[in-house]
Amino acid sequence: MEAQQGAPASERAQGADRGPAVDGLKLGIDIGGTKIEGIALDSQGRIVAQTRRPTHPGSQAVLADLISTARELQAQTSSQGAPPVSSLGVGIPGRVNNATGEVWDAVNLRLRHANLGRALKTELQIPVSIENDVNAAALGAYAGSDQPLMVFINLGTGLAAGVVRQGRIDHGYSGVIGEIGHIPADSHGFACRCGQHGCLETVTSGWALARLWPQASPPLPDLIRQAQQGQDQAGQVLSMFIHGLATAIQMTALSIDPATIVLGGGVTKAGPALLQLAQEELDRRAASSHFIDSLKLSQRLSMVPPDKLIGAIGAALAGEQRASAQAMQGVPEEPKTPENLRKCPHHQPGSRKGLPTNKE
Ligand SMILES: [Zn+2]
Repeated sequence: MEAQQGAPASERAQGADRGPAVDGLKLGIDIGGTKIEGIALDSQGRIVAQTRRPTHPGSQAVLADLISTARELQAQTSSQGAPPVSSLGVGIPGRVNNATGEVWDAVNLRLRHANLGRALKTELQIPVSIENDVNAAALGAYAGSDQPLMVFINLGTGLAAGVVRQGRIDHGYSGVIGEIGHIPADSHGFACRCGQHGCLETVTSGWALARLWPQASPPLPDLIRQAQQGQDQAGQVLSMFIHGLATAIQMTALSIDPATIVLGGGVTKAGPALLQLAQEELDRRAASSHFIDSLKLSQRLSMVPPDKLIGAIGAALAGEQRASAQAMQGVPEEPKTPENLRKCPHHQPGSRKGLPTNKE
């Protein structure tokens, strides 16, 4: 599939401290459990090439697919007479060390461990950024904004968030920032795959919906419809789901205090009804608390347009930022990671999203 020239601008991360400009096209690839989405952005942030293909599991197949996707985008753009490609960014589910380009436990891709960053850079001879898919989607959702601080909440198979600060992904100290799905704040106390009980993800995620409302696929549109028709069980399950979502939003606001909170991910394909339900629950909480009312939570909340390729766009922007940083620093490859994290047996340095929380 080839994008139309002059397609709507993908809206660059205007708020970012971008460093020196790196000329050329920026490739962005979002790889998920079923499909790979690849795009090329020009210097104005417009999508000038686009491709989509199915995913093949295994680390060698994933690497081969990423290389062939990048090569196809290069071929599309060179045939248009576009400038050469100057960077590549990849968003991938699993734990990622953005500093080294390593990926662990991308379960849906059957990838245990691989240094995709190094392999892709060797093959393509351009700067490469590897990001967790939720982080990449957060940067893609941010694109076009000039807010100093934004949080993207991804309602995919799991529940996780990405934080964009001054136009850049905030990785936190160890990479665990944004793992809101594993805050044990739900009173039903269901067992979570992380070993805890009552994680928000056990009631508010694609995984939770598939478990709690197995009679429909996707569950949420049917759940909303049945609840609105007065079906008791649907009402109870929907209430649990929305309550967990509102709690995740409230915790995000109280701990990070972003200007905007943006919802995205496969579950949000349910559309504006979901946004409205979340805002109504936040307004209910505000009605009984002057403090919560003062936070204006429902006004900070929005939803990503369903057709915006936030994963691939964010990956491309992260790749561009890495190329700019390397141009400024004289290309230090594989930056140092903190020794204390290297030694800690519970951490992979710089990793995040410890459980497979794939977007859908
Ligand atoms: Zn958990």
